[in-house]
Amino acid sequence: MAHPSSMISLQGQTALVTGGSRGIGSAVCSMLASSGAFVVVNYRSSEASAQDVMAGIKDLGGDGKIARFDVCSGDEVDRATAEIIQDRGKIDILVNNAGISRDGLIGRMKDQDWNDVLSTNLSGVFHICRSVSKSMIRNRKGRIINISSTAGEAGNPGQVNYSAAKAGLIGFTKALARELAPRNILVNSVSPGIISGGLSDQLTEDQLEAIRAHVPLRRTGTSDDVAAAVLFLSSGMADYITGQVIRVNGGLYM
Ligand code: NDP
Repeated sequence: MAHPSSMISLQGQTALVTGGSRGIGSAVCSMLASSGAFVVVNYRSSEASAQDVMAGIKDLGGDGKIARFDVCSGDEVDRATAEIIQDRGKIDILVNNAGISRDGLIGRMKDQDWNDVLSTNLSGVFHICRSVSKSMIRNRKGRIINISSTAGEAGNPGQVNYSAAKAGLIGFTKALARELAPRNILVNSVSPGIISGGLSDQLTEDQLEAIRAHVPLRRTGTSDDVAAAVLFLSSGMADYITGQVIRVNGGLYM
């Protein structure tokens, strides 16, 4: 099959990907850039990784820049998005991918583990959507894609914080999709299952094997599996899709 990015053109569009410096976010950045988008790669602390992602984009003949900000800070987000809009004139595609996990059984979960996960995975998306939607509304055009998780749909023991944030993100996606549909802004969520690398690195090989046994497709997903769904939702092929949750989970949850 042809690489998905060779079938879709995002030429002339600007994309902002939060948490683009590693894992799924870096695959999303590369795929959007391969399709012609100017990609702003956000990171919070891994500057060297973000630079590697940008170098990879340039090697592929793409273009973009890196932007450091913490999605948990509304002020940092407002400043960074204003700078991007001043520089590029607009943001056409926003991918809310930045996320963390701080797992633990409820009896032992610290306030900070609860607050950090809610703050990054849910409030962070609120901050950035509040900021970017103003420019999308002015342009009467935009795509917002929020990366949720199977944990937010099915629940996961040891992840009440993460599951609550990701479930909240799905409600947020649907409400915002209804709010912004009249302005031609489409808002969807991609819900990955178990994806190799990134947050799932915290799992042991035994845990991964047990998970694979429950996945109908009998493998963990790749970052590119998720990035392909994001690319599709960013493209003209998804003009009539909003408020949806697209599951990329090998059938783990149906
Ligand atoms: P990684 O841990 O590999 O990468 C997380 C990214 O988020 C990094 O680029 C990190 O930047 C960034 N980030 C974290 N906190 C902040 C912040 N406060 N502000 C800005 N950027 C931040 O994660 P994955 O690739 O595994 O996950 C990406 C998304 O996919 C997450 O939302 C996750 O919940 C979701 N997901 C992942 C699954 C998996 O199996 N991997 C399954 C289902 C969902 P830096 O390094 O600079 O801190």
